[in-house]
Amino acid sequence: MKYLDEYRNPEIARRILDEIHHVTTKPWVIMEICGGQTHSILKNGIDQLLPEQIELVHGPGCPVCVTPLEQIDKALVIAAGEDVIFTSFGDMLRVPGSEKDLLMVKSEGGDVRIVYSPLDAVALARKNPDKKVVFFAVGFETTAPNNAMAVWQAHREGLKNFSILVSHVLVPPAMEALLSSTRNRVQGYLAAGHVCTVMGWEEYIPIAERYKVPIVVTGFEPMDILEGILLTVKQLENGTATVENQYSRIVQREGNRPARDLIGKVFQISDRKWRGIGEIPASGLTLAPKYQEHDAEIVFDVSALKVDEPAECISGEVLQGLKKPFECAAFDTTCTPQTPLGATMVSTEGACSAYYLYDSTSLKKAGLASQETNK
Ligand code: SF4
Repeated sequence: MKYLDEYRNPEIARRILDEIHHVTTKPWVIMEICGGQTHSILKNGIDQLLPEQIELVHGPGCPVCVTPLEQIDKALVIAAGEDVIFTSFGDMLRVPGSEKDLLMVKSEGGDVRIVYSPLDAVALARKNPDKKVVFFAVGFETTAPNNAMAVWQAHREGLKNFSILVSHVLVPPAMEALLSSTRNRVQGYLAAGHVCTVMGWEEYIPIAERYKVPIVVTGFEPMDILEGILLTVKQLENGTATVENQYSRIVQREGNRPARDLIGKVFQISDRKWRGIGEIPASGLTLAPKYQEHDAEIVFDVSALKVDEPAECISGEVLQGLKKPFECAAFDTTCTPQTPLGATMVSTEGACSAYYLYDSTSLKKAGLASQETNK
């Protein structure tokens, strides 16, 4: 299949791998930002094929994983309310809150519906003027344009019964927070190609300069990941720290200007709490004052709700590249995709689910080698 097969070609993969082995002389820790990249790495065994000196650690770029528990609990409270139609993408329905998840609220009679676009939720608000329709707006810069469009459209139509529960986070502040931590191990980044499709890559230039880390905008196919690693290792070995764009077939330097403009109109930058990491200044989005009548936290008065994360889940350390999922005592024992304790196991982009699904080495390290590894 054109534009797919060539990015999964074994001969090209071997050539890039040979070059990575050839240029690597020292140990390096490289973080892929996005959970989609983590799954591609584990699924294709890329981590097993690299030189021993290269360690890949898995970043916080899984929106479901970094959505704080209290935001899930706010969704549960709203979804259980009278005259509410609560809408979400399917991946949020099984994410456990403190006591239940959205599927349980639905089984108890709540009107919880999966939609495929926030504009579907706007259409529901149009058709159901006597109901309050809420969309769970979770995500990074990638989903922000669609959510901004939904709010802009509802506002234009005067649909006061439409609101969104915002849980939007931004990648560059999280990258900076990890680099400025005293526990940081990351020496180079594979930036998330889809985020850069919207935002471009200019905002990474000051980060690369300030922290002296190479940042390579990278796609999601095996060849993309391998080439992104090669470019990063070359920079690390040469002592350079610039931004390079491996994903140039998709990403432009300025990103998608109309999408960025719409985000800038509807949202404003705010502090945001990241699950397991804590609050990072200016790392999220909330609705701009003009659109706050569509802010579900205000409409349903749930902004004061606070809860603590479960102590046994170390997903915060996993998301900062400090630990691997198999170092968690609950991994594949009390925590599995069927019985997830944390969002990194329930999410299809989560690092814990990636190790559970694809990585036999992790099971060996966790002393679980006798169990089935090809789940
Ligand atoms: S294995 Fe489960 S409990 Fe452990 S870090 Fe991952 S999600 Fe949390």
